[in-house]
Amino acid sequence: MIITFYGTRGSTPMPEEGYLKSGGHTSSILLEFNSGDVVILDAGTGIRKIGQHLSARPEGVPENIFIGMSHTHWDHIQGFPFFGPAYNPRQKLTIAISGEDYDASDLETVFKTQMQSEFFPVPLDQMGAKITFWQPNLNRYTTSNGITIQSIKHNHPGNAYTYRIEELSTTIVYCTDIEHGESIDERIVELASGVDLLIHDAMYTNEQLKTRKGWGHSSWEQAVEVAERAEVQLLALFHHDPDHDDTFLDKIEEDARERFPASFLAREGMAIKILP
Ligand SMILES: [Zn+2]
Ligand SMILES: [Zn+2]
Repeated sequence: MIITFYGTRGSTPMPEEGYLKSGGHTSSILLEFNSGDVVILDAGTGIRKIGQHLSARPEGVPENIFIGMSHTHWDHIQGFPFFGPAYNPRQKLTIAISGEDYDASDLETVFKTQMQSEFFPVPLDQMGAKITFWQPNLNRYTTSNGITIQSIKHNHPGNAYTYRIEELSTTIVYCTDIEHGESIDERIVELASGVDLLIHDAMYTNEQLKTRKGWGHSSWEQAVEVAERAEVQLLALFHHDPDHDDTFLDKIEEDARERFPASFLAREGMAIKILP
C-alpha cells in the first residue's frame, strides 16, 4: 500500500511562505493498493493534485475511484469541485461515508449544496462522471478485491468516523477531527492496535487544547498517547492548525519523536510505502 499526503492542513488552506513545507492544502490522502485499487481519504483542496497525479499515471485513472469521507466539514469537501476525473463522462466515482448511524444530512445533498450556483458555476450533476453516493450502515466490510474497512463513529461536532483499512497484512488507521475528551477514546486505541501506520489529528498542543474544548480536535500529545498505547509501527501527525507555521510544526515533530520515536509530521507530498 502506498499512502501519499496531498493535503495535511486543517480548517483552511495556508498558501503562505513559512507554511508550505508542512503543507498548504486541506485534508486529502491517496491510498494506492497492491490490487490496483485506489482510495482517496477526504476531499480537501489536496484532492485537485490527486486528480492530476491519477491522470498522469502510465496505467491511467482507475475505472472506479472510491472517496471515503471522515465527515463533511468544509475543509474535507472543498476540493471536490476541482477534482479533474469528476469531469470525465467515462469515469466512475463512489463517494462514501461508512459507519453506523450516520446522522448528518444526506451525503449527496452536502456535495450538491456546495456546488449550487450561489457557490460554484458547475452543478454536481453536470460534472460528467457517474457519481454514486454510498452510506452503508455498516462498521465492517470487505471489498471484492480483499480490502477490509472498519469504522468507528467518534466525537467531533456533527460526528466523524475513524477508519481502519487493511489489505493483505498491511493496516492503517485514519483518525482525524477527533476530540477525545477528558481521556483517550479506548475504542480508537483498540482499533489502531498494532497497525503499520496511524494517521491522527494533531491540531493543537495540550496547552492550546485547554482553551479549545468543544472545537473537535486533538493535541499531538494525545496522538502520541494513542500511538504508544496501541503500539503502532508509525505515527503520522496530521490536520495541522492553520496558525502553526513550519518552525512550530518542526518543533512538534521533534517533541513527539522524543516520546515516540516512530512519529513524523505528515507533510504535503510525502509518500509512505508499506510492504505486506
Ligand atoms: Zn477538518
Ligand atoms: Zn471537522
